[in-house]
Amino acid sequence: MYSKLKDSLPFLADRSATLSIGETLRMLADEFPGAVCFSSSFSWEDQVITHEILSAGLPITIFTLDTGRLFPETYSVWSSTNERYQTRIRPYYPNHDLLEPFVTEKGPNAFYESVQNRKDCCFIRKVEPLKRALAGNSIWITGLRAEHSPARQDLSLFEWDEGNRLVKYNPLLHWTTDQVKQYISKHDVPYNSLHDKGFVSIGCAPCTRAVRPGEDFRAGRWWWEDASKKECGLHVHEAHALEQVQK
Ligand code: SF4
Repeated sequence: MYSKLKDSLPFLADRSATLSIGETLRMLADEFPGAVCFSSSFSWEDQVITHEILSAGLPITIFTLDTGRLFPETYSVWSSTNERYQTRIRPYYPNHDLLEPFVTEKGPNAFYESVQNRKDCCFIRKVEPLKRALAGNSIWITGLRAEHSPARQDLSLFEWDEGNRLVKYNPLLHWTTDQVKQYISKHDVPYNSLHDKGFVSIGCAPCTRAVRPGEDFRAGRWWWEDASKKECGLHVHEAHALEQVQK
């Protein structure tokens, strides 16, 4: 429909300005049939978006990246979500041709030993599977919020993702934590029980801890590293691309 997908950004921003999130998701599904996807980590932000998609029966593909190192609670909410919405969320797994040599050579917990090991692990378990999951799509919906980190505060609702050659839509970008909680409660949406135990941003079990009162949202992720580098390469904003791990 668009000579260049990137050209659709002004149109999408204009159209969505007067639409609700649910209406915007429907508009995207209509404009880009079969080419709209949503990556869920089962965070409460992602559960809001999942509810919007599945309760309206929208033809948007929902997938998750199963790194093999997730919390048991994350698998529980994945199961609850399948059951609640009578759906089957598709997992993407790491390529064993990459993962097996890496773990053989470096060991199972190499991410604690160096930043490079951590970046390599994130690349193998997340970034490469994400590339496969996004292939053929035009729109990638995410649960990013500006509150999550300084690197996310200059994002837009619609963004061009040069690395993946598609448009990203961040519908909850300007939502507060309270708004997210209220939505989850109001609609009785299944959510990760770790959120009730001080976990704000939930990733892999060995690399995520609860956040103490007053700590930054991302303090619980890769807490042993420099705070300014806490992205895993899934979301590479152009302005920060050189700082990120994507290869
Ligand atoms: Fe590996 Fe930790 Fe990254 Fe998960 S978050 S992919 S375990 S380094």
